[in-house]
Amino acid sequence: MKVTVFGIGYVGLVQAAVLAEVGHEVLCIDVDAKKVENLKNGQIPIFEPGLTPLVKQNYESGRLKFSIDAEEGVAHAQVQFIAVGTPPEEDGSADLKYVTAVARTIAQYMTSPKIVIDKSTVPVGTADKVRQVMGQTLQQRGIKLSFDVISNPEFLKEGAAVADCMRPERIVIGTDNPDAIEPIRELYEPFNRNHDRMIVMDIRSAELTKYAANCMLATKISFMNEMSNLAELLGADIEKVRQGIGSDSRIGYHFIYPGCGYGGSCFPKDVQALIRTSEQIGYQPKLLQAVEQVNAQQKYKLPTFVERHFGKNLAGKTFALWGLSFKPNTDDMREASSRVLMEQLWAAGAKIKAYDPEAMNETQRIYGHRSDLELMGTKEAALQGADALVICTEWQNFRAPDFDLMKSSLKSPVIFDGRNLFDPDRLEKRGFTYYGIGRGASV
Ligand code: NAD
Repeated sequence: MKVTVFGIGYVGLVQAAVLAEVGHEVLCIDVDAKKVENLKNGQIPIFEPGLTPLVKQNYESGRLKFSIDAEEGVAHAQVQFIAVGTPPEEDGSADLKYVTAVARTIAQYMTSPKIVIDKSTVPVGTADKVRQVMGQTLQQRGIKLSFDVISNPEFLKEGAAVADCMRPERIVIGTDNPDAIEPIRELYEPFNRNHDRMIVMDIRSAELTKYAANCMLATKISFMNEMSNLAELLGADIEKVRQGIGSDSRIGYHFIYPGCGYGGSCFPKDVQALIRTSEQIGYQPKLLQAVEQVNAQQKYKLPTFVERHFGKNLAGKTFALWGLSFKPNTDDMREASSRVLMEQLWAAGAKIKAYDPEAMNETQRIYGHRSDLELMGTKEAALQGADALVICTEWQNFRAPDFDLMKSSLKSPVIFDGRNLFDPDRLEKRGFTYYGIGRGASV
């Protein structure tokens, strides 16, 4: 099938590459001319495991194309995906200007019926807005053409996006027109062979499903962080508690890791957006408000530990920082805990020597102007001459470091571990002072 994808970000690019991989002819449209040009030259704008060869192979085969020409994109296919960003407005509600801009563009150039599939995460009622914008634009053009608007929220995880799109756990389709489902079934057939993963529902339910999923996951994290704060005050170890509750199959081990707060482009903005949606209809979402507050507070956990150990004034101190991305296997630093940590330490006068396996370019882009930040080529180099180590991201290769080298490299053997990577007793025996999250016994 022919498919057009508007928006070549984490979602659009991965989805487009995966659709091309199974044989569809995919044309990607973006307003960012540099991104399009780079992609044509084989430069992939984001880090995602497996994405670079997938994009390159499919681009070379001619099944995956990139352009800034929206008219060409609209003409290319009956199926038009919207995969543009929906960033938070000042008040936390989702900004729909990119989504409605694409809707307008499609209606402006279409000369035949279209199926518009919204993959962006959008508040309930957005499909109606898309329909309205398209209807008005067609009316202004003085022509009548039919179109369907379908909600097909994306559930990929950054860091495993290619695998998630290749083998989705579910494909949620929201539609008010049963006739529009058949082309979507055909499109997703290659991903739906083992068993039927397609869950068809009305549009509003599909739109809410995406927010409900992210808010549930964020709730699990904030719940565990609240427990970790209690554990710390009560002299319990949250890691023992985690294993204790995870063993209950009704709870399970997934997504109950305590830490220095969730980040990324999805959880923070989606929790906030659902809070705003609720408030707009006169409902106080107390649980979601608490989820957000706990998370905002949790990001100050590590700076608080640093202050407890070194005092308020950090002038003359240097900290090694391992992990800048909001989670492992991505270069995405949107809303990352590392940013709060760095900004707090800088405000107290400290310098930072930072290392991340993938997010160095992104850090350079955001903070490259700062003289109190040094980007280091290895995690060992970051330790050299630093007063202590702070860990913000649980990258695999941070889990078993050379502790002897660490001890001889640091001025004082102190670790602030925002992801509970190490065993506090073992580190204590090696002569480290270790601050973990919710590990009362060792702090
Ligand atoms: P992104 O910011 O990485 O990419 C968005 C792209 O859209 C950019 O390249 C931008 O230039 C382009 N764009 C903006 N306006 C355009 C227009 N008028 N025409 C064509 N292109 C345009 O965003 P993302 O992380 O891929 O997220 C996209 C949507 O998917 C969001 O709603 C997000 O909440 C949702 N989502 C994201 C993830 C994730 O892990 N990143 C997962 C699931 C869902």
